[in-house]
Amino acid sequence: MRLSGIGVGRALATGPVRRMPDPLPEPSEAESPADTDAEVARTRSALQQVAAELTERGARAGGAAKDVLDAQALMAEDPTLVDDVIARIGQGRTGQRAVHEAFLEFQVMLVGLGGYMAERATDLGDVAQRVIARLTGVPAPGVPESETPFVLVARDLAPADTALLDLDKVLALITRDGGPTSHTAILARSRSIPAIVGVTDADSLRDGQTVVVDAGAGAVEVDPDEETVAATLRTIEERRAAANAPITPGALADGTKVQLLANIGGVKDTAKAVELGAEGVGLFRTEFLFLDSKSAPTVQQQKEQYAAVLKAFPGKKVVVRALDAGADKPLSFLNDSEEENPALGLRGLRVLRTHEDILREQLTALAEAAAETEAELWVMAPMVSEPEESEYFTALARELGIKVPGVMVEVPSAALLASQILKSADFVSIGTNDLTQYTLAADRLLGTVAAFQDPWHPAVLKLVAEVGRAGAAAGKSVGICGEAAADPALAVVLVGLGAKSLSMTPAALADVRAELLTVTLEQAQARAAAALTAGSAAAARAAAATA
Ligand code: PEP
Ligand code: MG
Repeated sequence: MRLSGIGVGRALATGPVRRMPDPLPEPSEAESPADTDAEVARTRSALQQVAAELTERGARAGGAAKDVLDAQALMAEDPTLVDDVIARIGQGRTGQRAVHEAFLEFQVMLVGLGGYMAERATDLGDVAQRVIARLTGVPAPGVPESETPFVLVARDLAPADTALLDLDKVLALITRDGGPTSHTAILARSRSIPAIVGVTDADSLRDGQTVVVDAGAGAVEVDPDEETVAATLRTIEERRAAANAPITPGALADGTKVQLLANIGGVKDTAKAVELGAEGVGLFRTEFLFLDSKSAPTVQQQKEQYAAVLKAFPGKKVVVRALDAGADKPLSFLNDSEEENPALGLRGLRVLRTHEDILREQLTALAEAAAETEAELWVMAPMVSEPEESEYFTALARELGIKVPGVMVEVPSAALLASQILKSADFVSIGTNDLTQYTLAADRLLGTVAAFQDPWHPAVLKLVAEVGRAGAAAGKSVGICGEAAADPALAVVLVGLGAKSLSMTPAALADVRAELLTVTLEQAQARAAAALTAGSAAAARAAAATA
């Protein structure tokens, strides 16, 4: 049997299933406390203890997990929520029922907001479960203990669980819920754990069943035959060997250079990128610095953050993206209007134009940071749909001291008009995540249409080819910075279509570097040509593999 979901990364794993216990039952509505004051005190204390426990777990875990757990600890002590819980106890609810109701109401509100906010609802639900467990004297639901390695299967994983996963024991994660930007996905990616999220049939998996998890294909093979398990173990070993190969600049077998760059979200990611041999940064997602900010950060604050990143790459290219607010990454100081379809709304450069002061400040901060460091700063605008937007952005960026301004190609119209866009832009970088979403009309956050979210789709590849041709004709750089660049077989095809640089999560660099070294430019072009003739993503994959 084969189950499918949204793969995180492209790693493989195989082993026996261990299921995470199901959530606690809903606390009864019928019970009421004997002594309201005592119940309030008991509940306050449970909330505080959970906050302290989450903070302590965060301190132990460090890194990205710490930020997530600290945010959860704040939820447990959020004054509005705590007041709501206490008011409900005052109305005769037990502490556990009051926590259940108050947190649930807040969760529903977050889900209503959609995108990034909706995915934080799981974190809030986890905090509630921990408090309820404490109040009812049962253990909080958590990762099962095991002496031997296993594949963890859960409805969804809370950050508190993912943060402290024992990587010697957990071979892979499979979750029923969660999208590509859920915390399970974010943390799995940052800790290089193979994961498949949004596996709708995950509830059918039983403890002890053997599975092969193929994150690259988003597939779980249940009860595989021995041959499949052996082949999986061989591939895992080969990839491990490739990961230990010497770090060399990206190139094809015939010496054609392909710059291998890192996607980062801030200075915390730079050390790993440098260590894994990134030749610079191909995408610095600046909005991650400001997701929790209530107001736009000052020029000085921004300059410090940018300078810290640029200093990690002396003499190297660092491509910074102007704030890409909206849709899956709403920023409260930029996205203030209600939209039915935020992915098709005022996002990226569109919203920056309505708040030009914020764009000007960011570009100024970037230019000032670059002047203080030796990195080669390139700056690009997200969500550009037509040449006029490129003219607007590049002119403003140059006016404010940015030497190399460019734009992202994430919308099909921009790909089709790439030659006109390249009249004003110094470079283009293709964001295959959004380009796939818009080409296939499939929301990248929706598990139900995940099958359409495949950058191997020949329609996406045709658009990449168009941009590649335009770049070659203009003598300007075409890069790729979406997840597609991290798939080694697809990376070869993208180079065949004209990409000169590939930017990816640093963990993927070694595999892509090794794969590029196995083909000449002519072979890459032949694979690309074969993929372009296919009628589906699966057929394109197969055609490239046999070309
Ligand atoms: C993309 O859309 O491919 C991209 C690189 O940007 P993001 O994933 O941040 O939208
Ligand atoms: Mg994008």
